[in-house]
Amino acid sequence: MPVRRTVRDEVLEFTPYAPGLSIDEIRRKYGLTNVIKMASNENPLGAPPLAQKAIQAAAALAFRYPQAGNPRLIRALSQAHGVAENRLAAGNGSDEIIDLILRIKARPGRDNIVAFTPCFSIYALQARLCGLTLRRAPLAPGFSFDLDALVAACDENTAVVFLTNPDNPSGYAIKAGEVLALARKLPRHALLVVDEAYIEFAEPYEEYSVLTRLAEADNLAVLRTFSKLYGLAGLRLGFSAMPAWLADYVARVKLPFSVNLLAEEAGIAALEDAPFKEKTLETVRAGRALLTRELAAMGFAVFPSQANFVMFKPSVDAGELFSRLLARGIIIRPLKSYGLPEYLRVSVGSPEENAAFLTAVRELARELG
Ligand SMILES: *Cc1c(COP(=O)(O)O)cnc(C)c1O
Repeated sequence: MPVRRTVRDEVLEFTPYAPGLSIDEIRRKYGLTNVIKMASNENPLGAPPLAQKAIQAAAALAFRYPQAGNPRLIRALSQAHGVAENRLAAGNGSDEIIDLILRIKARPGRDNIVAFTPCFSIYALQARLCGLTLRRAPLAPGFSFDLDALVAACDENTAVVFLTNPDNPSGYAIKAGEVLALARKLPRHALLVVDEAYIEFAEPYEEYSVLTRLAEADNLAVLRTFSKLYGLAGLRLGFSAMPAWLADYVARVKLPFSVNLLAEEAGIAALEDAPFKEKTLETVRAGRALLTRELAAMGFAVFPSQANFVMFKPSVDAGELFSRLLARGIIIRPLKSYGLPEYLRVSVGSPEENAAFLTAVRELARELG
């Protein structure tokens, strides 16, 4: 058999992740100078000033390998979040940790993973690459969680159950008590991975997060990212709080330098930048309320969000509205790849970006209506 025909079936069938469109692509395609990106839930204020300083200060050290295991970052995370160091793992984005958990916990060709449909596509993509089957539970009406359906989808080979809280793309969230109750209801061999990428935007935050409550269930792991609130999506940094035995396996099998030196320095500085975090939360919560109110006033179905984005179903054709916004230099997220072609998702932007988006949508809704 020729060498190129010996590739694994999982790879032959693989459909890659569909990212949001980039500003450069749209500038070139439509010959625009001003392009607004409200598609990937990035921080509307940019990167934290303290993190930018830390990156500049560390630039000359780029020739060094980072310290394997990133002990300084782990210590800073432990202090910032009140989680024991032996429960923490850092990764090249939370994407890397999702992949590692699957490779550690699930046996190829035998185990399955369980998640709601629709859900964040990385869970399904990495599961497929790992040779796992994906069992999906439907969401309840209004995109709320049918937790009994999630439990019912599990069987004796379920290795991992993913729950995104707040959910992407709807922004729906459940309280910490419900998450813990779910962990206890799952089969004992199933690990519940709660992806809290957007949890800091929930109000009140303390009632939603299970980050500091891992001791209340022994099959619970939490994922966090520096890509959203902490404004460092381009550096790729995420972390997880998990049972100590799992954190130990992650430390053993992870590629030693996947968290690079600049990401580590920037992450530590971002944790210390309290004013940036406060300003981001204020901007996002105010912008979220504005977008929710104004899109609803246009007669669109808008879903209450606890995240830094808003999902809506326009009264005009969603695909058409998306492409007309694009031609005006405003990039939002069509949800066709989530199986929701009639819905759109917009990230909360700066006050100026939100205003430009709302003005454009108002005009286009009139034209297309
Ligand atoms: C954005 C996002 C992440 C973050 O991923 P990183 O790899 O840390 O950038 C994780 N989970 C969900 C559901 C997200 O939407």
